[in-house]
Order: sequence, then structure tokens, then C-alpha cells
Amino acid sequence: MTTGNPQALIDAIRSCLPTDLPIVELSEPTFEGNEWKYVKDCLDSGWVSSVGKYVDRFEDMLAEFTGARFAIVTVNGTAALHAALVLAGVQAGDEVLSPAFTFVAGTNAISYCGALPHFVDSHPDNLGVDAEKLAGYLSNCVEIKDGKCLNRSTGRIIRALVVMHVFGHPSDLDALTQVCDHFQLKLIEDAAEAVGSKYKERHVGHDGFLGCLSFNGNKTITTGGGGAILCDDQELALKVRHLTTTAKIPHRWRFDHDMVGYNYRMPNLNAALGCAQMEQLPGFLKKKRALAERYQQALDTIPGVRFLAEPANCKSNYWLNALMLDDPSEDILDSTLSECHRQGLKVRPGWTLQNKLPMYRDMPAMDLSVAESIEARLINLPSSVSLAVNE
Ligand SMILES: *Cc1c(COP(=O)(O)O)cnc(C)c1O
Repeated sequence: MTTGNPQALIDAIRSCLPTDLPIVELSEPTFEGNEWKYVKDCLDSGWVSSVGKYVDRFEDMLAEFTGARFAIVTVNGTAALHAALVLAGVQAGDEVLSPAFTFVAGTNAISYCGALPHFVDSHPDNLGVDAEKLAGYLSNCVEIKDGKCLNRSTGRIIRALVVMHVFGHPSDLDALTQVCDHFQLKLIEDAAEAVGSKYKERHVGHDGFLGCLSFNGNKTITTGGGGAILCDDQELALKVRHLTTTAKIPHRWRFDHDMVGYNYRMPNLNAALGCAQMEQLPGFLKKKRALAERYQQALDTIPGVRFLAEPANCKSNYWLNALMLDDPSEDILDSTLSECHRQGLKVRPGWTLQNKLPMYRDMPAMDLSVAESIEARLINLPSSVSLAVNE
């Protein structure tokens, strides 16, 4: 790509999209199924709040689709992550390993527990946590004592590892599970972006201790706001439900609570949307894959950039398509982003690394050179289901 002249790239992106769109948003929802019908049913029946048939149905549909034994829906993905960390035993003063290159929700959820994020580097291919690099780092800086992972330089317990399936591309779960087993860490999957993504034939989100999904308006399917926790263990699923339902002991009229709980349950109104969206999810995934294939072909002809394709042995949901510049350059990144926006393409860069945010600047971190390089090279492309062009 010629420095400072991104027109060839913009033309290539445009060639993948419908021709009649002056402005192309990054990720917008599609409502072409039973959304109106199910939401109206909630209003007509009066069941709009935290109990109702759509909550149960949505949970069943999620469990069936993901292959997890249990799905517990929540008000949003951030709440799901917070509850998952609490159940993983994360306490005030602990450390939790978490990617530098991620959305802030997971980092904040660690803080809600009074714990400290300890930032880890990314793998250059799938952009998720680099298991091998992390293992090498931990070997040098922790010791295992009484079954706990101790950070030798801070003296704190490292309780868990949060991994994130970036833009829907699965991280290397087998390798990450091994690292967690070896260093006595609970594995939490932030699968917020990855509903419909598979790692070696398994839907992501239930390999570790707990996994979390998000149904925010910009995700692959939406409930307005919403999230879910996935797991395969019945006893743990009951604990998740308890903690996210104000820790209320089920009873027909008594209000007894046995611990500090959270009001994190998804309302029926939102779950109604979720049921309608789940019915369309297989079709959404096909369209997203078709759009990704068009991008891949078009970008293959542009020198200096690479389309981010799904990792080997994985099936990505292609939630957000992304390209990477071959060489890190803030100037080229900025000029490309600004020219795209001028021409109506609402592309965006990757997240600012978490360790650069003011509230997380002084947190412990390993070498983050790959994350730095991703930050300086990545551009997300418009990816809404509605952009898939019929051939
Ligand atoms: C969207 C998202 C979340 C959760 O977001 P909510 O808006 O709270 O549902 C968490 N982590 C990542 C990586 C996300 O992209």
C-alpha cells in the first residue's frame, strides 16, 4: 500500500459491500424474524421482567446451540464476567491474568472484585492470549504453594486467567487449558464476541471454569443488552443462578438471601428478542462467512495488508472482520481510518491497550510487544449481517 494513499484499499473494501450505501456502519443488528411477535407477547402477557417463559426458552436454546450443559442469562456480558470471576474465587488483593488487547469490560470486571488485572501478551495469529509466551513468563515469576499460584515479586495470589476470543476468532483453548492446569489458575473464557465460533468442533465458552457471552446491540445476535454464562457442571450452574438472582433462596413467598448476591438476571423482554435472534443465528453466520470471504479475496490483491482469517482447526463467527497492515505505522493507520470515515466507511482501530488506560497504567504486566504491534496495525471493517451481498 502506498504510504498515505489508501484509495486502493478503500476501493477494495467498497467492492465487497452493497453499492447503494453512502454510510456503512461497523456492526448493526438485523431483526427479520419473530422479534415483534415475541416482544408483543411479553407486553400482552405482562411478563416483562426477570421471570418468564422466554428466559427459560432462551437459556435452553443457548445450551443446545453451544453444547454447554447449562446457560444462565444475565443483564449484560460485563455482569456475566463479574459473576464468573466471583465464582472463580477472585478476591480483593488477588491478581487475574488478562489480555492487554481486549475490550475494557473484562478488565473492569476484575476491578469490581477488588482484584488487579495482570496484563498478558497476544498471539500474532489469532490475537488471543499467547499460551506459550505466557507459560514462559509464569515459569520465571511465580511459584506454586499449597495449590496456589503466587506472584513472587508482588506476593499476591494469581487466581485466574481470562482469555478472549478476539472478533470471534477462537484462542488456542487446548494450550491455554494446559497453562491453567500447570499453574493452578481458573480459566475464564470471555466469549462475548464469539457466539457461533468453534475450536476444533467444540463451541467456545465451556472449556474452562466458566465462559461468558454478550448480546449487546453490536454483537452477532442481540437482546438489546444481555449476556450469558456457560458451563457443564450442574452444581456450579446452580451457584451461578443463585449469585445472579440476589442469592435468593427459592420459596413461594419468603424473601431469604444467604449471601451478598447480584441482580444480574436478564428480563423476559430481552430474552424474547434473544429467542427470535437465535432462530436466525445459523443464517446470520452463513452471511457473515460470505462477507468475510469477499473481504479476504479483495484484500489479497492489496499489497501491504493482510485479512485476518480464522485460525487453523477453528470456525470463526467472523463477528468483526479485520485487516492488519504488514508494518506498524500510526501515520498510515490514522490516514487510512480518517479517509475511510470521510468516504462513509465506519471502520475503527483495535482497542487502546488496557495498560495504557489511566486507571490501569500501574498494573503488573509482561512484555506486550505483540499487543503493541497489533494496536498499531489493525483496522476493523464493516461486518453487519445485512452487508452480505447475494452473488
Ligand atoms: C461486548 C464485550 C463484552 C461485554 O459487553 P456488554 O456490553 O457488557 O454485554 C465483554 N468482553 C468483550 C471482549 C466484548 O467485546
